[in-house]
Amino acid sequence: MKKLLCILALAVFCIGGAVMAQELEQPFAKGEVNPYGKFFTGTTYLTMLVQNDDIWNSSVGNVTFEPAARTNWHKHSGGQILLVTAGRGYYKEKGQPARELKKGDVVKIPPNVEHWHGAAPDSWFAHISLETNIPNNKTTWLDPVTDEQYHKEVK
Ligand code: MN
Repeated sequence: MKKLLCILALAVFCIGGAVMAQELEQPFAKGEVNPYGKFFTGTTYLTMLVQNDDIWNSSVGNVTFEPAARTNWHKHSGGQILLVTAGRGYYKEKGQPARELKKGDVVKIPPNVEHWHGAAPDSWFAHISLETNIPNNKTTWLDPVTDEQYHKEVK
């Protein structure tokens, strides 16, 4: 009986922990599974908050990453700004050490600089992505960030 109670307690603890990991408290909706998923490793979610049009010339999206999920290497011809809203993640620019990110951080990504962004191995992560210099901003997707590259940079 004692053993059974122990197992039950452990099960409740584990399920509780898993639910906690799922529940990233963030100000904007997580949205649907990212339709650009083929350019990412792991599962990510996207909610478009502002669709580009010729009044505002701005595109704003909320991107949520499960633990260890990240973009491929890529570059934006018009740059990009990230506003971190929740969790823990990283921004890596080619040739530079990865920068750890937390809620409230701002990342200014210059045009045509190869980079990736994504979650830490043990944390969900969310950022707002602002496309800058529209309409002259094209994203070029490159190779995936391999597990070896990723784990060499992050903790
Ligand atoms: Mn980017």
